[in-house]
Amino acid sequence: MPMLPRKDDWIYFSFLSVSTIDDPMLGISLVVCVSGCPRQCEGCHTPHLQNVEYGKLINTSELMCKIKYQLSLSSDLIDNIVFLGGEPLLYPLAIHSIITQLNEYRTILYTGYDYDDVPDYIKNDVDILKTGEWVEDLESNKFPASTNQEVYINNKLLTNEELNNLPINMR
Ligand code: SF4
Repeated sequence: MPMLPRKDDWIYFSFLSVSTIDDPMLGISLVVCVSGCPRQCEGCHTPHLQNVEYGKLINTSELMCKIKYQLSLSSDLIDNIVFLGGEPLLYPLAIHSIITQLNEYRTILYTGYDYDDVPDYIKNDVDILKTGEWVEDLESNKFPASTNQEVYINNKLLTNEELNNLPINMR
C-alpha cells in the first residue's frame, strides 16, 4: 500500500514560472504557484486555482527538486522566490519548510489572509509578505493590487510612501 503523505509535508502544486510579477521594481522572480483557495473573491484573476485539483499533490522534497532545477537554469537572473496561488497558506508548514531552505534568495508570499491570521513562523521567516483579499472595487492598478492589501518587509508594515518608492532596503 503506498504511503500517504504527511499532512504537514504536502502541497497542491500548480506550476513554476519566471516573471516580474506585479512590480518590476521587485526584480525577477521564480514564481511557485499552488492551487486551492477557500475564498471566492469577485473578479479573481485566477479562478481555476481555487480548485485544488487544478494542481498535483506533491511533497516538499519533490517541490524543492523542481525549484532547484529551475534555479540551476536561471539562478543568475532570479532576485526573488514568490509563493502565490490560490492560497499558499493552505499549506503553511510545507511552505515554511521551503522558505527556510531558500534563504539565499528574497522570499515573497502573497496571501488572502489578513496579517493577524498569518502564523508567526511565516511572518518571521518570509522577507516580503502581502496580506489581504483581492477586492475588485478597490483595484489600485499598482502593487499591491487592491488598496485594502498590506505589504510587510521583514515583518514591518510599509507605509504608502514606502510602497511608492520601492525598492527600499528589503533585506
Ligand atoms: S484570494 Fe486570490 S486566488 Fe483566492 S479567490 Fe481571492 S483573488 Fe482568487
